[in-house]
Amino acid sequence: MAQYQDHMLILKSRPYREADILLTVFGIKSGKMGAIAKGARRAKSRLAGIYPLSYAVCQIYHGRSTLDTLNGWDLIEGFPALQKDLSKLSWAMLLADLVDEMFLERDPNPSVVPWLIAAWERLARASAPRTTALTASWQLLKLAGYIPQWDRCGLCQQVPLQGPLWIDWEQGVYCASHYPNHHPGGMEISLGTLRTWHQWMALDVTKIGNYDAKGIIANQLFDLFCQYVEHHIGRMPRSLQFVREVETMAEKERNKPL
Ligand SMILES: [Zn+2]
Repeated sequence: MAQYQDHMLILKSRPYREADILLTVFGIKSGKMGAIAKGARRAKSRLAGIYPLSYAVCQIYHGRSTLDTLNGWDLIEGFPALQKDLSKLSWAMLLADLVDEMFLERDPNPSVVPWLIAAWERLARASAPRTTALTASWQLLKLAGYIPQWDRCGLCQQVPLQGPLWIDWEQGVYCASHYPNHHPGGMEISLGTLRTWHQWMALDVTKIGNYDAKGIIANQLFDLFCQYVEHHIGRMPRSLQFVREVETMAEKERNKPL
């Protein structure tokens, strides 16, 4: 039983019991965990005002219960711009959800923290949030141990020089002459899509979102991510479904006749 301090990303929150909040946080030292903010829904509580998609120094009490207790917090960065734009908000929530889904309880992985902070920061400023969020999403999958080897054709071992290519979720990439037709567990992509994906995976955290994708390549990269996640998690996360709905809405808005 001990009191400790950790720098934490607030991923999610929901009302708990009469006046408490149950938080899902990701700490540099602690990894992902649940914490109760007791009485935080009372206006005068010193814990009031803590909200998801923010970064804070937290005072935590670790007792006998499986859930730790939040005793105090100091906001470092609240990313207010994320709360004012539905598209940015949906992407930021997806990133939080991915971290929640992909990482085990109390299994520290300090590299997650700078990636998620950089992603939320860039999203808050970005005019095209999709590239930033997808780059960060793939990098978070990589940190969670999902590292697709999409360099050489699974059959001829050559680096593909022309498309279309076939991505098989289990086996990797196949060049145009070797890809299995109508295979259910994968999707077709262009060479440009694969090359952009490699560029994204090579970026370091300070350059996140710098390599933009547009048009068909951007759409394929989004689809590739959705299908990859669905295949590996076994379902489409609700946060990803929400991103898709918001994106479809924005697309309709853009194509509306004047
Ligand atoms: Zn081949």
